[in-house]
Amino acid sequence: MENSESKLQVKCPQCGLLIFYSKENKNRPFCSDRCKILDLGAWASEKFRVPTQEHADFAHPDLEPTESDDDADT
Ligand SMILES: [Zn+2]
Repeated sequence: MENSESKLQVKCPQCGLLIFYSKENKNRPFCSDRCKILDLGAWASEKFRVPTQEHADFAHPDLEPTESDDDADT
């Protein structure tokens, strides 16, 4: 019991590797400094990319304006 309490295993959010969540691991909950930086970078880019990505994925301006344009023309 004492052992499992001091050696909590967690998955690295970046690569999924199982690591020990301990004070010695300064990169926790990541397995390494590299994963920590990668995750921070992904978070930062996602923060700026999500609105743009959603917009581009949803809107297909090619189809909708055609209807309006056709109506105005007639
Ligand atoms: Zn990792």
